[in-house]
Amino acid sequence: MLVLSGGTGTPKLMQGLKEIADFWTVVNTAEDIWVSGNKVCPDIDSVIYALAEVIDEQKWWGVRGDTFTTHERLKELGYDEGMRIGDLDRATHIMRSEALRSGKTLCEATRIVAKAYGVPNEIYPMCEEEVSTIIVTDSGKLHFQEFWVLKRGEPEVKDVVFAGIERARIPDDVKKKLEKEDEVLIGPSNPITSIMPILMVEDFAERLKDKKVIAVSPIVGDKPFSGPAGKLMRAKGFEVSPIGVFDVYRDFLDILVVDISDADLESENIAATSTFMKSKEDAVRLAEFIVKLFDRI
Ligand code: GDP
Repeated sequence: MLVLSGGTGTPKLMQGLKEIADFWTVVNTAEDIWVSGNKVCPDIDSVIYALAEVIDEQKWWGVRGDTFTTHERLKELGYDEGMRIGDLDRATHIMRSEALRSGKTLCEATRIVAKAYGVPNEIYPMCEEEVSTIIVTDSGKLHFQEFWVLKRGEPEVKDVVFAGIERARIPDDVKKKLEKEDEVLIGPSNPITSIMPILMVEDFAERLKDKKVIAVSPIVGDKPFSGPAGKLMRAKGFEVSPIGVFDVYRDFLDILVVDISDADLESENIAATSTFMKSKEDAVRLAEFIVKLFDRI
């Protein structure tokens, strides 16, 4: 099974999925950013930390029990690096960036980091090229991290664009694996900022048309479980509802999994179950439901 992932909802689900199924993953890199000389890949880091079971489950980013000594010291010295980077988290970024500086690709650097954390699943960035999610707001253009971390998602959103996406190429290894793959799961990630960039790398979306595709809605009723997905879906002209999520994936989706509180939407293409993951047990239960659904397609 291939899992398409962003950085919060899908890694949560992966913690359950890894207990019952084999999978590999292609992860959004359009939120990547260089901080204090190192490349931070927020979504890849969250996937690795979740699969290694070291993720901070309060925030769903960073390493559990991390300290911020270097970040605070830099501030005392008069340099604010913006993003709050933990000391242990920074070690990951240094390792990745040193691999890149020595001439390795992001695919290779990701493999090195995942191996160091003892993660057996193959994890691929959506592309090697740098792509940046830009949020067009009423107060100008902001990098996604500026919009979400520094401005706390408050500005009015007019549009979302992915700078550099035309140059992005699907990594060769991903192309090869995708040809042989039959099942694709789109986790409960932000459809606009996490999944859309992956789908827009060359003809990635087109390549999903002959596969069994299941997605899990990150929206319940008319709200996301967390994060700015609602605001961004509206800005892109989609309804903020599970139906709006279905519409984003309409061209290739077989089944959308929605929360039990949206059970009135159930149909041939929409299946309802509890999708709120408060614990690993919840994630395992949802993963089991999805694995059975694949058999039905
Ligand atoms: P981002 O990079 O932090 O935006 O990460 P993602 O795109 O992976 O995840 C954000 C999405 O995860 C949000 O739209 C949330 O609604 C969704 N999400 C978070 N927790 C849960 C959960 O327990 N269940 C479901 N179904 N969705 C969740």
